[in-house]
Amino acid sequence: METLQILRQAEALLEDYGPLFLSDPKIVDLLGRLESAIEGSREAMERAGISVACSRCEKEEGGSCCGRGIEKHYTEWLLLVNLLLGVDLPSRRSDARSCFFLDESGCTLRARHIICINYLCQDILKKTDPILIRELREKEGEEALLLFALVERLKQRVRQHG
Ligand code: SF4
Ligand code: SF4
Repeated sequence: METLQILRQAEALLEDYGPLFLSDPKIVDLLGRLESAIEGSREAMERAGISVACSRCEKEEGGSCCGRGIEKHYTEWLLLVNLLLGVDLPSRRSDARSCFFLDESGCTLRARHIICINYLCQDILKKTDPILIRELREKEGEEALLLFALVERLKQRVRQHG
């Protein structure tokens, strides 16, 4: 299915079930914990110097690993989580060679697929202190678990509602 169709499905879920989701204390709690975990991963990336290295790689070497086609891994549920986190999803691809969700300032998403959360190229893995990589992996693990739990809860609420 085309990314724009999946995006419309996520918007429809938000429109139909938004109030139901936001009146569920478990969903609200998971959203808050996910926000903190995403922030934790971001801080760990910065501490490890990865954010600076990736930004340099993208600007100077055109070496972004956010290639066209990665957006196909995104379901309406993952995009729905982004909408619930207040993300303004793009309505068109910025660069024909890149992922639909990449714009000039980087990834537009807050909640990302596990392949995006985990990916580090060999160059980064070789250059970065393994202790800092381990710290980052722990944070990413928390982020992935919370995201999984949240998506499952959202699906469950929709199923229960009928
Ligand atoms: S992970 Fe590696 S290839 Fe991807 S942007 Fe960072 S430095 Fe570049
Ligand atoms: S990190 Fe964001 S821009 Fe990069 S491939 Fe994943 S979704 Fe696309």
